[in-house]
Amino acid sequence: MSEDKTLFQKIIDREVDADIVYEDDQCVAFRDINPQAPTHILIVPRKPIPTVDDIEPEDEELVGHLFTVASDIADEEGLDNGYRTVFNCGDDGQQTVYHLHLHLLGGRQLSWPPG
Ligand code: 5GP
Repeated sequence: MSEDKTLFQKIIDREVDADIVYEDDQCVAFRDINPQAPTHILIVPRKPIPTVDDIEPEDEELVGHLFTVASDIADEEGLDNGYRTVFNCGDDGQQTVYHLHLHLLGGRQLSWPPG
């Protein structure tokens, strides 16, 4: 059964180690293993929604919650000058882990457009 779990589900279930910075009954947030900025945190719903395309109307409150958590963590991390939140979706979006996750990136001047 465990083989069916995504990597992030295994982190949520404490089967894989991660530097967890926040958790509540709806989500878990941990530092990205390959950070693209001084602060790079992934905010992951406990519910295993694969991609943005799989978000259902019943998930709208949950997805909104991920953003309020991102904002609170940004405060904790001292990202007073701004930050970026990103959901990658599918192959063209270069999503690699198919368990919805909100990237929180900050602590340096980010460029636009992304590559
Ligand atoms: P995606 O490309 O799907 O939007 O983002 C997946 C993210 O997960 C990447 O930024 C990648 O560095 C991160 N990641 C991959 N494997 C691990 C892991 O084992 N632990 C942690 N903490 N992050 C991971």
